[in-house]
Amino acid sequence: MDYSDSIKIVLVGTTHPGNIGAAARAIKTMGLRHLDLVSPKEFPSDEAIYRSKAAKDILEKASTYETLLESVKECEVVIGTSARNRKVPWPVLNPKDASKEISLAVKNNSKVAIVFGREDRGLTNEELGLCNLHVHIPTNEDYTSLNLAQAVQIVTYEIRMKFLESENLKNDQEWDVELASAEQTERLIEHMDELMKEVEFYDTENPRKLLMRVRRFFKRSGIDVMETNIFRGLFSTIQKKLNK
Ligand code: SAH
Repeated sequence: MDYSDSIKIVLVGTTHPGNIGAAARAIKTMGLRHLDLVSPKEFPSDEAIYRSKAAKDILEKASTYETLLESVKECEVVIGTSARNRKVPWPVLNPKDASKEISLAVKNNSKVAIVFGREDRGLTNEELGLCNLHVHIPTNEDYTSLNLAQAVQIVTYEIRMKFLESENLKNDQEWDVELASAEQTERLIEHMDELMKEVEFYDTENPRKLLMRVRRFFKRSGIDVMETNIFRGLFSTIQKKLNK
């Protein structure tokens, strides 16, 4: 069972270094080890080391990035966690169902990132838009927001349960082509946007929901590398004809 190399936990904009340490502890107890920090307010930090207990090694090996895209660009599956519903609804799973998708992805050799937001305001819509699916821990509707490290604990626990359970079950579906990475999907979306502008498909003064919907379509489709090449090839052919 080596799911630990394929999965990383990403903490975005963490304010309290103690939460980073507690998250590292949660990650290690559940058999994972890769931690990325996107623009943490204070890191490295003694408070983080103190709260990590015996998971100091996770902190020492953690990578730091400025933006979420830099952290997840190589990942084929990006999962965002959120304490509340957002404007454009995205596919949302609970941690247990998400763990099935994660297990399947890992078996197909995909790299998976699970992204957690800021203590005060979670992830931005733009950051959630980089994700293929969202996970919501079904908390009390009147008080939905868990402590960051506790949310990490619950999600990583379900992942561990799924992998323990499926250790001997090797009959899950396999895909014939590698899934597209986050970066490849970004390029496809950009290319489609470029083409839509060339044919004046939408009012560039007011594009927001349309682009979010196009993005949601591609992110939730589980698009593979060959499929992105087909779309991009088609877009290029249309562009060539237009520019003749
Ligand atoms: N007020 C913020 C709450 C942030 S809590 C908001 O509206 O999003 C900090 C982080 O912990 C969240 O970004 C998310 O990654 C995680 N988290 C907290 N509660 C959660 C829940 N019920 N389901 C999924 N993730 C949760």
